[in-house]
Amino acid sequence: MRLIDSHCHLNADRFEGDVEAVLAGAKLAGVERILVPGWNVTSSRRALELVARYDWLDAAVGVHPHDAAKVDGAGWREILDLAADPRVLAIGETGLDYDRVFSPVEDQLVNLRRNLALALDTGRPAILHVRSAAGRRDAQDALLGELGRAGVGGATWAAAFRDRPPAIIHSFSGPLDYARAVIDLGLAVSISGLVFRAGEEATTEAVPLVPRDRLLVETDSPFLSPPGAPRRRNEPEWVRITAAWVAERKGIEDGQLGRDVVAAYDRAFVRDQARPERHPRA
Ligand SMILES: [Zn+2]
Repeated sequence: MRLIDSHCHLNADRFEGDVEAVLAGAKLAGVERILVPGWNVTSSRRALELVARYDWLDAAVGVHPHDAAKVDGAGWREILDLAADPRVLAIGETGLDYDRVFSPVEDQLVNLRRNLALALDTGRPAILHVRSAAGRRDAQDALLGELGRAGVGGATWAAAFRDRPPAIIHSFSGPLDYARAVIDLGLAVSISGLVFRAGEEATTEAVPLVPRDRLLVETDSPFLSPPGAPRRRNEPEWVRITAAWVAERKGIEDGQLGRDVVAAYDRAFVRDQARPERHPRA
């Protein structure tokens, strides 16, 4: 089965000792490309170091909502510098986390806004982490407000991204009408092992609505092990468990789903792509 992992933190400390073996396991499972997102300055830099070592990996740089209050102006300028690297194919991960609130909401909003602006400037899609506390949807609703405020779905973003998704909802979680709203905005939706957890049942109904050319799968390693994968540390090879679940929801063969997610990945994360000239960055 052909596969990709659209979100995998191989740049986390927990992979430092054996990333080579983890990648061999992923290759054996059919994983062809892995996107490694940063969550702060150090992890963004590490994502680029991994891409330098393994050319079938891709990097994203940005600031996670958990780190929103920790990255100062100097840190953000470093992210801007890193984002100029042509091997950076996306901006993130960023987003809103109203569940754990490791950074104050106001800082999360400021952080999300500048990550979205960077996505538009670079023509690279934003990777969005969106989580509310159990039974709530305030982060999802706030995100929709911010996407509207940033003009996602409008002419400026359409000019920068053409037919490509301007953002990816990573590790999808949320109610069905929210799923419809992000799909209508042209976003891609990535499914992780989170779908197997209690409280995430709406995703079962959301998956059939996502157009196949905007549907992705991911592990979010080292987190969110799906059932059947070791709980102590998730690894990219286990994306096949989630992919098989998604294929079933879509009513298609695993092999077809695999080909679809590879194509959707290539469409969202474009290598050797020219940068837009509208907003030259000093
Ligand atoms: Zn992540």
